[in-house]
Amino acid sequence: MSFSIFVFLKINNVMINIKTFVFNFIQTNTYVLYDETKECVIIDSACNEDIEREELKNFITEHGLLPKRLLNTHCHVDHVIGNQFIIDNYNIGYEAHADGKLFWEMASEFGSVFNFKINDFPKPVNFLKHGDKINFGVSELDVVYTPGHADGSICFINRKQKFIIVGDVLFKDSIGRTDLPTGNYDVLIKSIKNQLFTLDDDFIVYTGHGPSTTIGYEKKNNQFLKGI
Ligand SMILES: [Zn+2]
Ligand SMILES: [Zn+2]
Repeated sequence: MSFSIFVFLKINNVMINIKTFVFNFIQTNTYVLYDETKECVIIDSACNEDIEREELKNFITEHGLLPKRLLNTHCHVDHVIGNQFIIDNYNIGYEAHADGKLFWEMASEFGSVFNFKINDFPKPVNFLKHGDKINFGVSELDVVYTPGHADGSICFINRKQKFIIVGDVLFKDSIGRTDLPTGNYDVLIKSIKNQLFTLDDDFIVYTGHGPSTTIGYEKKNNQFLKGI
């Protein structure tokens, strides 16, 4: 009896830890998610300098983490610039939505606009789609499709701990820009309304740039989203 209670409590204590790094001159957030099994996923590997790559690698080593998957919210160059480093060091390819094709096919062209040096950019090893489940350790993330900022934009939801990782779809007090290739304002608003604002107010929103926020805060305060 006491043993089964112990097991029950232990299972319920499983938590996903979220480590945030801010990398490259565009100040892009890279997230490392890990649970007590030490398996981890890396979301948006944005490291672009040796010191940033070392910081990411040291964190993984010091915490004894085992990177299982490399996921991208979308394939804008500031979010994928560190993918090759993860591929080289942990022997895992990256996974993204198939509709982001333009961005990996033209990575060097887009990179040169922002002064990122990219020669050959790899293709995803797996395409993620709306409704997919991402499993690592004893944890699970749901994939939802949220275009508008860029084709191929997806968010990762953990319903148990109530958080969502949104890339550049939504920011604290702002929304993603829609003036870049494949951007579309109406589509972005629809994505936020149908996929993000249907979550409970206490969901924490981890953004692609800047601080985290909550669904409730943005519903109440975000001037771009009044009355949607
Ligand atoms: Zn972006
Ligand atoms: Zn970005």
